[in-house]
Amino acid sequence: MSVEIFLDREKAERIQRTRPTKDEYFMLIAKLVSLRATCPRLRVGAVAVKDGYILATGYNGAPRGMDHCIDVGCLIVDGHCHRAVHAEQNVIAMAARKGISLEGATLYVTHFPCDTCFKLVLNAGIKEIVYEEMYPNEATEILLREAQDKGIVKIRQFKLSKERVRLFLEELFGEFVD
Ligand SMILES: [Zn+2]
Ligand SMILES: [Zn+2]
Repeated sequence: MSVEIFLDREKAERIQRTRPTKDEYFMLIAKLVSLRATCPRLRVGAVAVKDGYILATGYNGAPRGMDHCIDVGCLIVDGHCHRAVHAEQNVIAMAARKGISLEGATLYVTHFPCDTCFKLVLNAGIKEIVYEEMYPNEATEILLREAQDKGIVKIRQFKLSKERVRLFLEELFGEFVD
């Protein structure tokens, strides 16, 4: 029997170059989740993580078993769709159904949350929000300032770089021909 430590430097370097950081990894997952959204007004994806583990995911769409916006149309009240459950709410609902605590978790979400989601996120025990796109909401911004002052939640923006995403996709599927 022979035992050796073997390191293929070339392969290791390639992996180091193409390995997503944690922020990239979780935001890419949130983006992928958003592809499942069914409200044409905005496609949002979210993933709750803690200690590097994924706890729950969610995207915006009709309640389970009910008709989707893309099939029967949005239910618009005061300019907002009231058929779709928001992605952040679905993360919390999934965790509730599966008996998973979100206490101390970080939420990666493709868009800045609305005020209802923001308040639910706080009460679910989520301690950090990482969003990719700004989606202006004055009420959220006011509540956020207070929550930050009181040390209840942290928030930051993280944008995926297109060049990095291209690198990941090429690593997975080979070169793309434009
Ligand atoms: Zn809708
Ligand atoms: Zn919302």
